[in-house]
Amino acid sequence: MIKKRFSKPPLALRGMRDILPKEQIYWDKIRKTLPKVAKDFGFKRIDTPLLEQMELFKRTVGEGTDIVEKEMYTFITKGKEKVALRPEFTASIVRAFLENGMDRWPKPVKIYSMGPLFRYERPQEGRYRQHHQLDFEIFGRKDPLVDAQIILVGAYLLKKLGITKRTKILISSIGCLECRKPYIKKLVEYFKNHKSGLCKDCKNRLKKNPLRILDCKEAACEPITNKAPKLIDSLCQECHNHFKKTLSYLEEVNLKYEIDPSLVRGLDYYNRTVFEIVARDKEGNNKYALLGGGRYDGLAEILGGKQIPAIGFGSGIERIVTELMQNQKKEKVKEKKRVFIVGFGELGKKKAFQLFNDLLSSGINLRESLGRDSIKAQLKVADKEKARLALIIGQKEALDETVILRDMQIGSQEIIPRDKILKQVKKMLRK
Ligand SMILES: [Zn+2]
Ligand SMILES: [Zn+2]
Repeated sequence: MIKKRFSKPPLALRGMRDILPKEQIYWDKIRKTLPKVAKDFGFKRIDTPLLEQMELFKRTVGEGTDIVEKEMYTFITKGKEKVALRPEFTASIVRAFLENGMDRWPKPVKIYSMGPLFRYERPQEGRYRQHHQLDFEIFGRKDPLVDAQIILVGAYLLKKLGITKRTKILISSIGCLECRKPYIKKLVEYFKNHKSGLCKDCKNRLKKNPLRILDCKEAACEPITNKAPKLIDSLCQECHNHFKKTLSYLEEVNLKYEIDPSLVRGLDYYNRTVFEIVARDKEGNNKYALLGGGRYDGLAEILGGKQIPAIGFGSGIERIVTELMQNQKKEKVKEKKRVFIVGFGELGKKKAFQLFNDLLSSGINLRESLGRDSIKAQLKVADKEKARLALIIGQKEALDETVILRDMQIGSQEIIPRDKILKQVKKMLRK
């Protein structure tokens, strides 16, 4: 049978990318820091499936949002189910929360996750169709202290990752349904007076969902949305108090914030507190959000559960990695001193391979290049890999049951009986 070959090697899909080994040290740092931060605040990990019912996101993220209208990866399965690759975490986590009876757990329930998300958007610098986020959520408390606490989790996480320079907490309140009603009236009136300047999408949004106009990224709409009435000036008494208290709790833990009334999270389910922690450039301009989130007290109800107050945030890992790379240039990895195994001649290579296997679980940082034949070529690799010691076995050593122990720094060497080699290596590494 003749298999059809590619005429040239295939490439990754548009907007998808490989995370190569040299970037993985930064990912490792995040993977290691995350569970520590979670433990310090009592969060437990959850992993939800990448695929969910399409309806889950349509109902929660909201019809008319860019995510649902344009950016979701959706398809129909062989079983005729309409499904979507998850574009965000919160809806999936709330679905899992209700499905697994977590609403009966002692409150507050604190959950975190990390993994890939998918958005079919135009690929651009630093944004990918498969990107990764970490996510923290607290369920079951509407106290403003919890609002301050989740922001503290975000700030603490960045601190533990070593990202402290030029970050800023931006915070606002988008109120509740009560205070939003009169506000939307005001907003519609304002946009009607500026209708001619709005983009085509926004003219439609004016009828369907006027709040969405505030998220529009079109250049034409920006000056208009900038001057639009702000929700924060129309908060009802309860929302106003909630916001005030949240700010005072932030002050208690010395978190400096800036009130940013233009902050609107582009998803339907948020209410009251919304926040971001942004990275800034040297001039003090916001570069991008390192994390962002808010309160979503009504989401569980939308999914058919009872009302469960909740608040959380998500953070794009690719952006954090970019920050880590810029801030620290090179993450210093503490490399343990390396020991290089060298074997030559048929018997020598066999015995060297065996020695490698015997030392595997000894805690020694082993390297080898036994796929090469000549001793010279192997020692060259040992040099390149900055090996501290080389253990060399040729025909003679194989027969004598010995190993040549070479100090790669000074170049001196001695012959050690095979059964004494581990002890001798450990002794020399301690120097
Ligand atoms: Zn309100
Ligand atoms: Zn627009």
